[in-house]
This record gives sequence, structure tokens and C-alpha cells, in this order.
Amino acid sequence: GNPALTEPRWQTILPDEAATEAFGKWLAERVQRGDILLLYGDLGAGKTTLVRGLARSFGYTGRVTSPTFTLVHEYEGQVPIYHFDLYRLDEPDHVWEIGWADYLRGEGILCIEWPERLGSLLPEEALTIRLSHLEESPCSEAGDPVIDGRLVEVTGRGEHSEALVKEWKATCMS
Ligand code: ADP
Ligand code: MG
Repeated sequence: GNPALTEPRWQTILPDEAATEAFGKWLAERVQRGDILLLYGDLGAGKTTLVRGLARSFGYTGRVTSPTFTLVHEYEGQVPIYHFDLYRLDEPDHVWEIGWADYLRGEGILCIEWPERLGSLLPEEALTIRLSHLEESPCSEAGDPVIDGRLVEVTGRGEHSEALVKEWKATCMS
């Protein structure tokens, strides 16, 4: 069958930038070394903001920006964060040149912006996080407050990621 239909799924609204960063911090308390976070979403969706929250939570105080040209940034905290932005990766196989095999050894947490660029190298077991802009209601009228939040949807594939999403579903719905 189609695994996308059976993966546990959980979603929430992030009303502002602080909420995206807080969500990254919340995730940091629940993920472990070797976990892979696939961060999908258009330019400006909030992917880097989420990674910033995560890195801050592990005690990293330096700059957290999209590694657009170098493809990867490493943040050393209690747990290392490997932050990828693969927007400019034109061939999936080029990730081997930046040490992909080492990153997959499981010593840190991998956060990957534009994971779709990995093609068939996309890790099978991961937390998939999709960020999108909230859409304006067709019923909204002139003068209504402007909506500037994000929707985040999380799915898990693989034993550990599936267990995490199921647990969040259970705790957040009770
Ligand atoms: P990406 O890495 O996906 O391109 P960024 O994390 O750089 O996106 O964020 C782009 C912009 O969106 C930033 O100005 C950030 O402050 C803003 N932003 C992040 N999360 C939210 C949110 N939940 N609501 C509104 N704005 C947000
Ligand atoms: Mg980014």
C-alpha cells in the first residue's frame, strides 16, 4: 500500500515567528541523535526559524542561517545539529562530496531544508515536517486582521519517528 496513507500525522498552527522557534525548541526535547528532520516548505515558510529554535535548545548561541551556498552548517551544542539547505544541489549524488556518509552515522540530528533535492537518496526513516502559509479565508473582509501564521504538519516514517508522532497526537488531543 501507499505508506503516506498509513503514516501517523499531526498538525498545528504557528501564529507567529516566535511560535515557530518555540516549536523547534519543543522538538529538541523529543528528538535524539541520529534523527532526521525533513523540512519541506516554500521560501519563507519558516524552515530556518524552526532549526534556530532547535539549535538554541541545545545551547548553540551562534548564528543560524540557511546554508544556501555551503549546503551545510554545523552547530555544536549538547547534541550537534547538521543543518542542510539543499536548494542549490543540482545532482543528488553531489551530497557525497560534502560528507553525506559521515552525517548519516547518527552522531547528531540532521535538519534538511529542500529534502526533495535528494531524489532517491531521501532517507526512508525520518520525521517529515511541512510548513506552509495559512490561507486567507474567502469570507474575510477588508479591515480583518492580516493572517501571517503558518501551518505545520508532521508525519513519521520508521519505528522511532512513527512512535514520536503517535505520542504527540495522543498527548495533544487529550
Ligand atoms: P525558510 O527557511 O523556510 O525560507 P525562514 O525561517 O527564513 O524561512 O523564515 C522566513 C520568514 O518567516 C522570517 O521573516 C520569519 O520571521 C517568518 N516566520 C517564521 N515563522 C513564522 C510564523 N509562524 N508566522 C509568521 N511568520 C513567520
Ligand atoms: Mg531557510
